[in-house]
Amino acid sequence: MVDTDSIQDLFISFKAAFDVTKGLVELNRDDKIQHAVAELNSALMDAQGKAIAAYTAQAAFAEKVEKLEAELSRLKEWSGEKERYELQSRSPISPGAIAYRIREELRGNEPVHWLCPTCFQDNVKSILQESGGATRTKTANCPRCNTTLEFRE
Ligand SMILES: [Zn+2]
Repeated sequence: MVDTDSIQDLFISFKAAFDVTKGLVELNRDDKIQHAVAELNSALMDAQGKAIAAYTAQAAFAEKVEKLEAELSRLKEWSGEKERYELQSRSPISPGAIAYRIREELRGNEPVHWLCPTCFQDNVKSILQESGGATRTKTANCPRCNTTLEFRE
């Protein structure tokens, strides 16, 4: 969508330039011609400035549309992807914690993995990474938001 006010201003400026040009043809004195030419130049410079402003506004709008289309595409893809996971709060996750586990029937050749519940709510897929822990307890961190969960073996 183009900024219609800028485009309208552009047409007004060009009409002014044409009006000055028409008056120039009707003049026969040098000083009047010079004055008309100065007016014409001013009108044309005004038109040029407004055309640049309209173009800049249109370019910014196009950039915004492109970003929104990319985000829409990502969210559509995520909408399908998130159906492959289910929220779990039982073993092996430590009591009181929750995370999204890939559904076994949709796992395919992927290893069993868990998604960060915080990032999941932000519509971002972030796989929890094991980061250590004691003998019977493992810790997993989210590389995106640093959420930490404990898993029991
Ligand atoms: Zn996270």
